[in-house]
Amino acid sequence: KPGENPQIKPELTAAHLKATGGRVITRFPPEPNGLLHIGHAKAINVNFGYAATHGGTCNLRYDDTNPTTEEQEYVESILDTVRWLGFEPDKILYSSDYFQQLYELAVELTERGLAYVCHCTGEEINEQRGGEDNRGKRFACPHRDRPVAESLAEFQKMKDGRYGESEAILRMKMDLEDGNTQMWDLVAYRVMFASHHRTGTAWCIYPTYDFTHCLCDSFENITHSLCTREFYLSRQSYYWLCDALEVYKPVQWEYGRLRVTNTLLSKRKLLKIVDEGVVAALDDPRLYTLPALRRRGVPPQAINAFARELGVTTSDTTIDVGRLENHIRDSLNEIAPRIMAAVRPVRVVLENLPADHLEEIELMYIPRDESLGKRRVPFTRALYIDASDFREVDSADYYRLAPGKTVGLHGVAHPITCTSVRRDAAGAVTELVCRYESAGGCPKPKTFIQWVADCPERGSPVRLDEMRIYNQLFKHSNPEDKNAVPGGWLADADRESLEVARGAIADVGLWDVIRRHAATDAGAKELRSGSYEGIRLQFMRIGYFTLDRDTVLPAAALAGDCTEGTKFVLNRIVTLKEDSKK
Ligand code: ATP
Ligand code: MG
Ligand code: MG
Repeated sequence: KPGENPQIKPELTAAHLKATGGRVITRFPPEPNGLLHIGHAKAINVNFGYAATHGGTCNLRYDDTNPTTEEQEYVESILDTVRWLGFEPDKILYSSDYFQQLYELAVELTERGLAYVCHCTGEEINEQRGGEDNRGKRFACPHRDRPVAESLAEFQKMKDGRYGESEAILRMKMDLEDGNTQMWDLVAYRVMFASHHRTGTAWCIYPTYDFTHCLCDSFENITHSLCTREFYLSRQSYYWLCDALEVYKPVQWEYGRLRVTNTLLSKRKLLKIVDEGVVAALDDPRLYTLPALRRRGVPPQAINAFARELGVTTSDTTIDVGRLENHIRDSLNEIAPRIMAAVRPVRVVLENLPADHLEEIELMYIPRDESLGKRRVPFTRALYIDASDFREVDSADYYRLAPGKTVGLHGVAHPITCTSVRRDAAGAVTELVCRYESAGGCPKPKTFIQWVADCPERGSPVRLDEMRIYNQLFKHSNPEDKNAVPGGWLADADRESLEVARGAIADVGLWDVIRRHAATDAGAKELRSGSYEGIRLQFMRIGYFTLDRDTVLPAAALAGDCTEGTKFVLNRIVTLKEDSKK
């Protein structure tokens, strides 16, 4: 809001307006030290969204001033993720682009008598700042009032590598009388003999977040520096530094951090979960990093809809993961073609149909939606249903298949009635013998179940090598709450949370869906890169699924020539209903 930072000088404002033409400019400033997570999706939507609503632009700025934790791999993943969510940065920038400029401003700040080189240890600095709780007596360090020329010479020595790490730091000379801890002579530069992912060993001094962030915002003419609430106290130091150097001063606004139940987002803890072997990688679909959600098959639109619904709250909020799942269902419900599948197939023989019976059944991809056209599946004397749709012991409130009971088959003209059960020597059910009813032969069934023809000459069933069912990784709503989870967050992680079903089958429509995708430009490009994430479908009455990248689909199979050498690995994206088993 105008008037938030009233001290800005008219000539700085004029130069700023000349550069921007008065347009809003925001930035999304991740540190490339990990994968982006669902909380960042909020930050991305806030920054890109605010700019877009006001006809402005948003930059991606890698906040890469800490070479010991940052990696090129993360730099690439971050941009890829931002684009996956559907946002294109106006400019892609790095804090390290400004190392020279930042250094020169640090020299200038020193020349202005507003920075000094300090040789105190961390402990000593703590003490000067009133001890651990910042409530003790505060006092200036012995280096605070050293002559400017001396600080300049010492800073040069830091830059020249003549001090070891933590032997010297450059501190800003702020206001020890102020009540705000962020005004107590923050560190501006430290010595680090670490190779930077972009500048290599050119520098052995690196600027801190407190020194870098506001100045980079200023260089880029950012109008609204939007950040999370933990930076509330930093607002004052942000403004202080811009004013001290008499540079253009953006406005800082804070918004609430997002947390989601039954998971955690801390990069350190995520790495620990991987190191401990609880999950194999940071993109394991049970985690809430954005690459993990992507691998699980979550459409980016669902994540953005979730973030938009949250809005720009100013308090930190913990949102029930169910709300995200509802957005995922809503978006999949509209786009996911329906396919029939059986997780545990049970063979059914329709005893009154001839052995060579072959009917073509027309099905819709999506109910009441003609846009994808219709598809055809074979219907034959032998077929499979899911084991969960058959019971040996019937009951009055059960409407699926049991001895003597009738059930409908999705899309098929008449229902079937189970007449007998075949067993192996051990007594286990091997086959259900059923009668295909004729027109008017029995009342309309209450339930219709999915089925898959046993018709090898038509490629049915399609064998699904692995169906991965991802259950909630953390049992507690807040795994980091020490009172609720006495064993600690790591022990709360359920090592059995991934179920893999082998031996599932699907109808031939799975191939139709894959080949339709392959026939589009975007789909073909995606498949060439070994990804199948654009293929999302609903296995009727089971759940929403995508193909994991572990899937193997040879070119000949995509062209429909043969189906040799394929391997289907499916990820469950989400259950069909909110209350189904998690
Ligand atoms: P982490 O503790 O996960 O490393 P961070 O804040 O250090 O979080 P950055 O990569 O520096 O992570 O974050 C980039 C931007 O995203 C910052 O503006 C930050 O405030 C914002 N952000 C990070 N986590 C969240 C979250 N949970 N909710 C909303 N915004 C977030
Ligand atoms: Mg961080
Ligand atoms: Mg950060």
